[in-house]
Amino acid sequence: MSVTFFDLVDQYVSIADEVHEAIGRVLSTQTFIMGPEVAALEEELGQYVGADHAVAVASGTDALLLPLKALEADPGAEVIIPAFTFFATAGAVWNAGLRPVFCDVDPRTYNVTAETIAPHVTERTVAIVPVHLYGQMAEMSGIMELARAHGAFVLEDCAQSIGADSPEGRAGSVGDAGSFSFFPTKNLGGFGDGGLTTFSDSLVADRVRKMRVHGGKKMYHHEMVGTNSRLDALQAAVLRVKLHHLDEWIQARRGNADRYADLLADVGEISLPFVADGHTHAYNQFTIRAERRDELRAFLTERGIGSGVYYPLGLHLQDCFSSLGYRPGDLPVTESLTSDVLSLPIFPELGEERVSRVAEAVREFYGYSSE
Ligand SMILES: *Cc1c(COP(=O)(O)O)cnc(C)c1O
Repeated sequence: MSVTFFDLVDQYVSIADEVHEAIGRVLSTQTFIMGPEVAALEEELGQYVGADHAVAVASGTDALLLPLKALEADPGAEVIIPAFTFFATAGAVWNAGLRPVFCDVDPRTYNVTAETIAPHVTERTVAIVPVHLYGQMAEMSGIMELARAHGAFVLEDCAQSIGADSPEGRAGSVGDAGSFSFFPTKNLGGFGDGGLTTFSDSLVADRVRKMRVHGGKKMYHHEMVGTNSRLDALQAAVLRVKLHHLDEWIQARRGNADRYADLLADVGEISLPFVADGHTHAYNQFTIRAERRDELRAFLTERGIGSGVYYPLGLHLQDCFSSLGYRPGDLPVTESLTSDVLSLPIFPELGEERVSRVAEAVREFYGYSSE
């Protein structure tokens, strides 16, 4: 039995009727740009996240870029972000005309903490972007305290963590803003690209709402230079259907994770995802740290088992940021994670049999008997 890293087909089949009905509703009105589906999605997601304002945009990348631009900071002002994240977090800072300042992460949660951020705060710091990596939120209380003390804006990158909870609240409801991605493999995935930013305050939200339609509220009257970053009505209609199932799908991801944890508990060569106190993990990825990671991965591939490496190179060491002057050794936790993390299949429809198959292969690789 082969096990693909992810598979969106079973999920689609399970909701095909509902999705076709929603798409039909949009087709019958021929309202493809913005309109009531997008407004309804914003309302529903704002409620789900627990944020007062929500603005849908064209991608998760724009959901980071637009609020950063809307800060209207001086060019070259600094934004502290983890080096251990998807490229978009850094690309958005750069494309907003700001300077990415990379910090390290905690070796157990893989997330930034107040302690890893603090050494990088300067009088030029305008924002901090904690990334809630793999489906678990960063420890926000310390981060918020640090940010408030320095007047820095906090934009949570929730692309991988919709539905994750923490003692401080749900992903996207704790900072000044939270950005989400609807890329198809995210926990709430559309049938193409899409994104959304939540805000606790209307000031930046209103600017972003204008920026996504070329910088004006009234057609052909532009208060600022914006862009086209609208979410398609068709995507909004599909996402509204999927939102009804999101909690049940996250629950299924957790079931898979619990099963992996049972089956792999005695394998000393790996460490399992660590769930911090009071947190619920949304498991967009199930990421272990593994000795001989690349050999393990090749072994799994040979047996028809998909896996992923998120991420193989720290952002501070990417060629495109060489002008920032980082060197190997600058962020040691990130650099060790890039050589030992491995993500195993975790999608909701995976099921017990396939989880067992993957776990058995991992056990076999390290010479453990199967259960
Ligand atoms: C997916 C992702 C993004 C970007 O989202 P897109 O919709 O692909 O533009 C940003 N940050 C993180 C951490 C992501 O995983």
